[in-house]
Amino acid sequence: MAKRAKSAEKKNVAVIGLGRFGEAVALRLVELGHEVIGIDENAEIVQKLADDLPHVVQADSTDSEALRVLGVNEVDYAVVAIGASLEGSVLSVLALQELGIKDIWAKASTRQHGLILTRLGVSKVVFPEADMGHALAEQLCGA
Ligand code: ATP
Repeated sequence: MAKRAKSAEKKNVAVIGLGRFGEAVALRLVELGHEVIGIDENAEIVQKLADDLPHVVQADSTDSEALRVLGVNEVDYAVVAIGASLEGSVLSVLALQELGIKDIWAKASTRQHGLILTRLGVSKVVFPEADMGHALAEQLCGA
């Protein structure tokens, strides 16, 4: 059985973009006992995850009104896991900020993408491949 979060506090998280990275984030948060709403514009992806993610919805995350209708304005955290479309990533961050979400974590696919996300004021920018590569190198050397 999966290990549950030590923190008793149940978090309410929106995970936007359910590619390989977003899917992994969303499923792990659910395993850890948190409340997750997963959003993707691709109907096939939403269908594929419907059995494992209790709340998964097809929507365009650049549309702040659509997000509001889904209750995304109530979440504590949002994770924007859109890498390939810089426009989709940036507009999703702006839509979340319009809803008043303060704690936004976002994935960047390039250094420039990361810079733009930082300038937008997101709480944390992650570079999955680079971060994992650094972690693996450090593990290998016992750092
Ligand atoms: P990964 O490497 O995690 O598989 P990726 O970096 O290639 O993903 P993308 O393919 O850009 O990232 O996006 C990940 C997911 O985000 C896709 O499933 C895509 O359908 C979804 N997505 C992209 N734009 C939007 C949008 N505007 N609204 C909702 N979902 C979106």
